[in-house]
Amino acid sequence: MQTDTLDIADTSPQDWKYISEGGSTIVFSYVGPPNARFDRTALRLRKGPTQAHEDPEKYQKSQLAQEEEHTIENAPVDAGSSLDDLSEPDDPTIVFQRTVIEQLMPIEHLPRLQSVHVERAWLEKLAERTEPLRPHERRAKDTIDRGRRKAVLATDLVGGAGWAVEIKPKWGFLPNPTHLSLETRAIKTRTCRFCMHAHMKSTQGEDVALGYCPLDLYSGDAARVEQALRALWDVWVGTGGKVNNLRVFVEGKMVKPRADLESLAPLTTQLFPASTNPDSAHPLDTLRDAFISTLLPLLMHTPVLRTLSTLQRTLDALDIEGLAALWSRVHPTMPLGTGPAARDPDMAEWARFISVRAARGAQDNAEEDHVVPETQEELRYRVAAYLLGASFKDCSIILRMQPRTTDTGADVGGTVTVIDLDVKGVDRLAKWAALDREIVDAYRGVAPRDCVDAHYDGGGGGVPLA
Ligand SMILES: [Zn+2]
Repeated sequence: MQTDTLDIADTSPQDWKYISEGGSTIVFSYVGPPNARFDRTALRLRKGPTQAHEDPEKYQKSQLAQEEEHTIENAPVDAGSSLDDLSEPDDPTIVFQRTVIEQLMPIEHLPRLQSVHVERAWLEKLAERTEPLRPHERRAKDTIDRGRRKAVLATDLVGGAGWAVEIKPKWGFLPNPTHLSLETRAIKTRTCRFCMHAHMKSTQGEDVALGYCPLDLYSGDAARVEQALRALWDVWVGTGGKVNNLRVFVEGKMVKPRADLESLAPLTTQLFPASTNPDSAHPLDTLRDAFISTLLPLLMHTPVLRTLSTLQRTLDALDIEGLAALWSRVHPTMPLGTGPAARDPDMAEWARFISVRAARGAQDNAEEDHVVPETQEELRYRVAAYLLGASFKDCSIILRMQPRTTDTGADVGGTVTVIDLDVKGVDRLAKWAALDREIVDAYRGVAPRDCVDAHYDGGGGGVPLA
């Protein structure tokens, strides 16, 4: 699985511009002199706790004392210890994409990922330049993990000329009622998981994408996709970009919207290059309409959304309720996601999972999902399927627009790429089951929203059970 590894030392830390960061990684965009290997690439580095870099020795001792278990992704590879440079495996993101993701999602809709060699002194210099640019709350918690010897180089989908939109579409299906309990069936087959979750979060005072229903975005129906985009836009502007279901990047810079034209000026110049402001009595509405009509054809033509919702639906065929019930029948004394059975699949098991799934695909899936054998082997298969489904429920899509050269309203070409398909761990199952109960309970007694699943074929013909 190893490939030719590039060396980041062929570039200067100054050639990399800080773009954004998530819970475990931080991303930079190449802005250095022309270089065939690095042009239009983004560097994704792992982060580690701040403490580990301030006092590596002390940190390592406290880690040993706690015997804290880390996931593969988050483990600091070298908090003071020395690991042979060459023995560090490629980042799990790369191996997982090659082994699993590329078998399920056409490669033209995935970022190109490559392993790149990094070293401590280079990372130190980059970290020094980057720290002042990072959000305060993130800096307090973590920093670039200087102990790593390998990082991920990916296609830079948001940098360079032109603009890009990131959408986190979330769950695109209503569950098959077969494995739901009588107690939740009526609720879960009527309102989609995202809308119920948004309701719960809003009652807790959180900013959420209220009014956005993923089933609209995934519907393949132009009027509904447009409605989803309008809802995403309104939430984006209304919350100042705080809700992460929509993000807009212009020439590599994230647009921070407020409900005024000035903050949206970078986007305006992309959508209306001939004039700096849309010529209208309601310029904000005009801008929103232009945004929607640019994205709509791209979303209507790409197979990505349909593929995502099919993967989510088929990988989560049992729902977390059905999976928990199967677990308790196979391991009656072990709570969900605990005990010796709760080990994460390794890459060999993932590869096996993919071939078993392909073989099973030849049979009638709906039929097969009604009768689930209560064996350890079946449970392993279903757990892997659920974890993989969770990656597809949590990913983002990047719509990359080509810069427009004239203001004639001619077709704007673009690409759709799926990102953030990281592997999830078995230790999350119990949390997901608890969250599922909490979300459904919070929805009891609420005037329910009717979410329409355009691709539903779970036996009810699209009509939810009463
Ligand atoms: Zn919904």
